[in-house]
Amino acid sequence: MSGLKLGAHMSIAGGVSNALDAAEAVQSNAVQVFMKSNRQWRGPEVKEEDVSRWNAQMPDSGVAYAVSHASYLINLASPKDDLWEKSVAAFADELERAHAYGIGHVVLHPGAHTGSGEEAGLQRIADALNRIHAQLPDCGDVKTLLELMAGQGTTLGYTFAQLAQIIGRVEEKERVGVCLDTCHALAAGYDFRTGEGYAAMMAEIEETVGIESVGCWHFNDSANDHGSRKDRHAHIGEGFVGAEGFRHILNDVRWDGVPMLLETPKKEDGDGKDEMNLRALAALVVDASRLPEGLRPK
Ligand SMILES: [Zn+2]
Ligand SMILES: [Zn+2]
Repeated sequence: MSGLKLGAHMSIAGGVSNALDAAEAVQSNAVQVFMKSNRQWRGPEVKEEDVSRWNAQMPDSGVAYAVSHASYLINLASPKDDLWEKSVAAFADELERAHAYGIGHVVLHPGAHTGSGEEAGLQRIADALNRIHAQLPDCGDVKTLLELMAGQGTTLGYTFAQLAQIIGRVEEKERVGVCLDTCHALAAGYDFRTGEGYAAMMAEIEETVGIESVGCWHFNDSANDHGSRKDRHAHIGEGFVGAEGFRHILNDVRWDGVPMLLETPKKEDGDGKDEMNLRALAALVVDASRLPEGLRPK
């Protein structure tokens, strides 16, 4: 798995497989999708014909890697039993949907403790994952990626140490990893805009979750400054991360093969924003041979 994997979150309107067309249209070689509407608890049944189309198109699409993102409603840290149970069922459904499509990674916001305290919340998340893993032995091919968060409100998972704590309490550790997000990392207090800051962040990753546990990156600039703990995405180079922050990550070959996915503002796929942001990232890569072919400078 050599070279950079770059892509964006794409719409699944009309079928999950439509996201592959959108990913190809911007010359990317990775894609992120929701498996169903991200603001609903229930989704339609998985359509066999869409799964077939996905499987038929994937190998030739140039998109080597897909990751799904779980619904925003899910809160595995909730102290309320009814919401927690609902969240457990909904996240199990997310893993089953990904499994049906052969998607190997599902990104999950770890959750918010909503007043019960961090320790209780972290335990709740691990309990939920242990329950789901036991329930779904067949979904062992799908890894949950706990996302590093900005730390807004009572949200958990805003330090690498917290993510490591959750993983430490999961019994089947091979079924969990992490998703890093450049906007969230800066907002949470990691200042990787300087060479020194980036090295310090990498050292912390190595000491906690380990680089090998990182299944994907979300590449977003941040509308708020370092340590703001606010989660608002901006276009690449137009926020507080800036070109320098992305340059360090993009030119570090340790991230070869780990997808870097945009979740930057856009009206719709194909409105030119993803292309603009992918080009902005490509321009920061020193060794252009590491870029997907369609994104190499002409
Ligand atoms: Zn996310
Ligand atoms: Zn975000």
